[in-house]
Amino acid sequence: MENGKSGILTTAMYNFDVAAKRLGLDSDIRQKILGPKEKVEIDINPKLPNGRMINAKVFIVRHHDALGPAKGGIRMTPSVTLDEVTGLAMEMTWKTSLIGVPFGGGKSGIRLDPAKLTDDEKEAVIRAFERGASRHIGPEIYIPAPDMGTNEMDMAHIRDCISYSQGVSITKGCFVTGKPVILGGIVGRREATGKGVVYTILSSCEKLNKDIKKMSVAVQGFGNVGSVAAAEIARHGARVVAVCDAQAGLKNDDGIDIQALERHFVQKGTLKGFPGCKEMAPTDIFAVDCDILIPAAAGSQITLENVDKIKASIIAEGANAPTIPEADEVLASRSVMVVPDILCNAGGVFVSYLEYTQETQREQMTLEAVENRLSSRMAERFNDVYDLAAQKGITMRQAAMDIAVSRVLEAVRTRGLLP
Ligand code: NAD
Repeated sequence: MENGKSGILTTAMYNFDVAAKRLGLDSDIRQKILGPKEKVEIDINPKLPNGRMINAKVFIVRHHDALGPAKGGIRMTPSVTLDEVTGLAMEMTWKTSLIGVPFGGGKSGIRLDPAKLTDDEKEAVIRAFERGASRHIGPEIYIPAPDMGTNEMDMAHIRDCISYSQGVSITKGCFVTGKPVILGGIVGRREATGKGVVYTILSSCEKLNKDIKKMSVAVQGFGNVGSVAAAEIARHGARVVAVCDAQAGLKNDDGIDIQALERHFVQKGTLKGFPGCKEMAPTDIFAVDCDILIPAAAGSQITLENVDKIKASIIAEGANAPTIPEADEVLASRSVMVVPDILCNAGGVFVSYLEYTQETQREQMTLEAVENRLSSRMAERFNDVYDLAAQKGITMRQAAMDIAVSRVLEAVRTRGLLP
């Protein structure tokens, strides 16, 4: 459903609605928090290096900024819609609130297929995006980052475009995170989301009294989040028995050597043909016999069609909104522990916050300091959510939403009632 339909927005609104009811919000304040504050649609017409001029739709949504400037990535896919960007921006509001960084929620979309662009063409597109969007981007307004289809080179070009337009070498403050380290990025940002996912799994195992070394894992998606999460959980001694991406799936009950698989993927550009594994269809990932499932691909993947096949007792949502609400109810009725996306994959935005403060203060953080801050913050917030869920007898998702929405509500009320 993520591909062009409004699955993410539907899920985000549903999750907010039930939280608002549980928290007893009246309709005025509910509308004020539901937002979004601003939705922008822009046309860009970059001229590519081959002389051809193309057109692309750009969407920017600032969902909420009571806690601080909007934070959220730029998604470049051929099917991205304003609805999808709005749903993702809303999710970012809850995520930044829950993980406790001084940001609100935002997101951008560029409707183009990055796989059809050369590096030079993509640079022209990204620079056109920055020019078109410049009045909506800034350290106190909206700070973008990479998301599906964009990467650290794109963030480097955004930063360069801003500093170049001002005739200076650097920017006044942090306009974009997820940059290459050489241009003010922070060490450990690329791995932060995947590692954060694993930290929440380690906390889950601790609470459930399970030994990570005896657990088997299936991972959907072998991109930034999925490949790092697979490698990290294997490093902690778990057995990764299946992985897949959009093209192919692999299975090995004895455990897949993830480091070797990463090398194979870099060389061949595909998971296919990796020795020692059985190949399977990507959709078979949900039926794999495993203790932990990490959906780290796209939204709306766990549906009523596959939820009954899932055998895992822990689901760690690396992707944004991978579970549709109806399937979520089924998992809750089976007492599957679902670590919700706004907690599970918040490691990326937490380390983005460290990048923001590092750049603002002209500081340099070490990898050790970044990882220590990340692992302790993930564990703290996991415990807050777990404890509230136990105390109220609700799911982890409900508890995470209650904390996130309550913090936004507190900020709104503390600011006062002026528009
Ligand atoms: P990516 O583009 O690097 O990787 C996505 C992976 O998912 C690829 O391997 C792709 O082939 C696979 N995939 C896509 N559709 C699939 C399908 N239908 N079945 C199986 N595999 C499929 O993206 P990413 O940065 O790893 O992001 C993955 C998810 O995590 C997205 O939902 C994203 O919004 C979310 N997320 C990412 C970050 C981050 O820091 N990168 C942070 C928070 C949330």
